[in-house]
Amino acid sequence: MEDKFKYLFGPVPSRRLGRSLGVDLNPVKVCTENCVFCQIGRTTELTLERREWVPTADVLAEFDRWVAAGGQADHVTLSGSGEPTMHVGFGAVLRHVKQAGPFRTALLSNGSLMWQPEVRRDAAAADVIKVTLSAWDEDSFQRIHRPAPGLSFARLLEGEQALRREFAGRLWVEVMLLPGYNDEPQQVQAIADLVKTLAADAVHLNTTSRPAMAGVRLPPVPEAWLRTVAAAFSPVAEVPAFLERMKSPAEMSDESLFNLLARHPIALTALAASAGMEVVALEQRLAPLVAAGRLVVEDHHGVRMLRARSA
Ligand code: SF4
Repeated sequence: MEDKFKYLFGPVPSRRLGRSLGVDLNPVKVCTENCVFCQIGRTTELTLERREWVPTADVLAEFDRWVAAGGQADHVTLSGSGEPTMHVGFGAVLRHVKQAGPFRTALLSNGSLMWQPEVRRDAAAADVIKVTLSAWDEDSFQRIHRPAPGLSFARLLEGEQALRREFAGRLWVEVMLLPGYNDEPQQVQAIADLVKTLAADAVHLNTTSRPAMAGVRLPPVPEAWLRTVAAAFSPVAEVPAFLERMKSPAEMSDESLFNLLARHPIALTALAASAGMEVVALEQRLAPLVAAGRLVVEDHHGVRMLRARSA
């Protein structure tokens, strides 16, 4: 049924949103940012301009056709090829969906335009809003998100904080961790401190799961590292269920284990959870390397951290 539509896609199964019907209000690729991790592709129209990027009436007509054909979804979600709040009609779309049936609505936003009161007012029509906060200062914001001129980190943060004050629905914050950009412990802590000011209902830690399309090759941050830093966030961050489980350390060569631990110490429990193995079994696998002094287990505030000892 989705083949016949231009602006709707799915419904796709989503762990958090159930059956989620996507609504795409942006032509490829119009966005306020050009993130290094973007999987849609390089932003060709990088702007803060808000306008009717696609005809609102056509989107609503398509949605009505989907409803009339018996379409069912748990959430109707504004997301897609760019930043949905760039479309001046996104609030009208949200309100229309709510009037059309028992649909819950979600808005997946990068948060970049929330400093504008009218954007926050329209966003408040959603049941769930997810915004992104993956930087901690201007420099990291520029490196990771490569925003349109006129968009500063202070503005982004101020907008997201104002949204939280005004929005009574569920606010989720996504934190994208990228190796070499924002994954060092003190950087993650700085982000976590700012995320706390958003009093989020949930925090989702994420990393790249496919090669980014925006011209930057980025390997994912190891799942075990995400699990290790999840507790720095308030509320404790949720780590996505990775499609591909990491190879069990029981089957990994010593060299692969060292590579995994080369960038960060990782909590023993996190590594065991990521690999789907018991902590005791993991300890047995690592025992010879620990005995040989190549790996070290250290207590860090009551958490046992595993670290590769540099040669
Ligand atoms: S990741 Fe989202 S915000 Fe960033 S460039 Fe891609 S569509 Fe825009």
